[in-house]
Amino acid sequence: MSDEVRVRFAPSPTGYLHIGGARTAIYNWLFAKKHNGKFILRIEDTDKERSTEDSIKGIIDGLTWLGLDWDEGPYFQSAHIEEHKQAAQKLIELGWAYKCFCTKEELDAKREQAKKEKRPFKYDKTCRNLTPEEIAEKEKAGLPYCIRFKVPEEDGVISFDDVVYGKIERRFKDIEDFVIVRSDGSPLYLLSNAVDDIRDKITHVIRGQDGLANTPKQLLIYKALGAKIPVFAHMPLTLDLKKRKISKRTHGEVVSVQFYREHGFIPWALVNFLVLLGWHGPDDKEIYSLEELIEAFSLEGIGRANSIFNYRPGDPKFFTDPKALSINAHYLRNLPIEEIASYVKQEFLREGLWNPAYEGEKRKWFLETLDLIRTRYHTLKDFVNLGRAYFSDEYPFDPKAVKKNILKHPELAKWLPELAEKLEELEQFTLENTEEVIRNFAEEKQIKAGIIINGIRTVVTGQSVGPGLFDVLVAIGKDRVVKRLKATPSLFEQKDLQ
Ligand code: GLU
Repeated sequence: MSDEVRVRFAPSPTGYLHIGGARTAIYNWLFAKKHNGKFILRIEDTDKERSTEDSIKGIIDGLTWLGLDWDEGPYFQSAHIEEHKQAAQKLIELGWAYKCFCTKEELDAKREQAKKEKRPFKYDKTCRNLTPEEIAEKEKAGLPYCIRFKVPEEDGVISFDDVVYGKIERRFKDIEDFVIVRSDGSPLYLLSNAVDDIRDKITHVIRGQDGLANTPKQLLIYKALGAKIPVFAHMPLTLDLKKRKISKRTHGEVVSVQFYREHGFIPWALVNFLVLLGWHGPDDKEIYSLEELIEAFSLEGIGRANSIFNYRPGDPKFFTDPKALSINAHYLRNLPIEEIASYVKQEFLREGLWNPAYEGEKRKWFLETLDLIRTRYHTLKDFVNLGRAYFSDEYPFDPKAVKKNILKHPELAKWLPELAEKLEELEQFTLENTEEVIRNFAEEKQIKAGIIINGIRTVVTGQSVGPGLFDVLVAIGKDRVVKRLKATPSLFEQKDLQ
């Protein structure tokens, strides 16, 4: 089908998969899905010095983890270098390019001169009008040459309508005869990129704003080669709160997709968050299922303003944009519990917390417990850390909780073990029975039930907050609750909790 939508994600494999890159991939992927088109992965690896195998693997793993499946590829730009050179040759034959024999020294001298005269340097077209004889002679002498594009000399403009930025126009006279093949024979990226897009029949180029500077030149190449011009949509940058471009150098790992994988994100939650960095739907909705997103997505929804990645380095509570955390929390709370269980299983396996009975006789308990504790959680790591007491007898104590709920009430060292004896006698360890025993106990000792309840919570879970206490007790189970309460005095002895 000739009018099939074909888009591509074309990363240069010079680092990990950056969240900005992932956003570009997501927009392309959604656009393809929306139009029943094809999403192509093309690795732009012609910069051999900077491209690495690790980075290619990181990009592929990251996209796979995010669920951004591609229909074609990965193609590798480096496999097509001959084609890029042939395109340059064709441009020469068509009269749209020429060999330039100017040496680096000559060009440097002219650049210096321009600087002295305070005018911008532009190649002066010395070689544009060499005669065939002159060219043959220089070639015979073995002089190296680069290939330059012949920008029209008339008074016109090259213009296009960018879906995001609107009409973009450049005057021919402001574009120099740019190099498309270096004197060592290697094609320039802007040529390779355009030739690949032509070959891959790309209909919509959706890419970062940094591609905008190349677009007028690429359009000249498209036209000269008689190729159909795709639709262009350039996406604005993502900046931090100080208006700096987000980058590994400035922000560290928090801008890599891998970081979110390692910090307990659900892949779709990250997709959902990244989509909103610069795009909004017809209403102000923030949570989208895949189907809803495909329905709502359009390139017109991409804003022109730079999007803001609201990250405050050094704030341990928000180790990334709080919105990313709240979206992840939303999915933790709302996805079917079986799905949550499969994510938690991976975390538990990594931590040595996994028990095969969670898929056997303890399945029901496992799912109910996850369902109970997930309401307050922000990442999958919370099941391992904040929720550890439900799955292991070795769990961390939040020192603040211990201080406030236990150490401040030294009588608990005596009372909680006493209460444990009473709970131990219960035949049915139910919500009602545990509540009754605990409330009666508080009354008998003439203390506020709250003090006992907070104390118990901290002793049995290590935390100061969580689901309703009686639910917690039933989930943790009689034996473990009794054992933990009996061990309350040991909390008074632990130096690191004082
Ligand atoms: N390889 C370019 C990059 O990683 C992409 C350019 C494009 O999409 O046209 O920035």
